[in-house]
Amino acid sequence: MIQRETSAPPHKRPEGPVRTCVGCRKRGLAVELLRVVAVDGGNGACAVTVDTARKLPGRGAWLHPDPQCLDAAIRRQAFVRALRITGSPDTTAVVEHVGAAHSAQAPPRPRNRTGSEEHEHTVKSR
Ligand SMILES: [Zn+2]
Repeated sequence: MIQRETSAPPHKRPEGPVRTCVGCRKRGLAVELLRVVAVDGGNGACAVTVDTARKLPGRGAWLHPDPQCLDAAIRRQAFVRALRITGSPDTTAVVEHVGAAHSAQAPPRPRNRTGSEEHEHTVKSR
């Protein structure tokens, strides 16, 4: 006799969608990651900008709002690969966005950040 368990949703998390950070390659909740997209820099070059409203079209990459993740992403050219762009993009906007949030001692976060570091524990398991 075989009993079927039908009441076990495999990947349902109430917190929301999970994305992979292009910097540290760890997965985190989308609401806790920055969405970055490639935009036309105006002079034939690409620029990477933070899609704070999450409404910009096109491919997006996800990044923790952490200078270390940003640094890793830039060094490994993760944006280039994730966003399917060529050359070295201008990441000034992202650097400023992340850097500004961390340079202050008590960074006021204008966007409502729903989670804290403790939330990391809920998503660490695969
Ligand atoms: Zn990261």
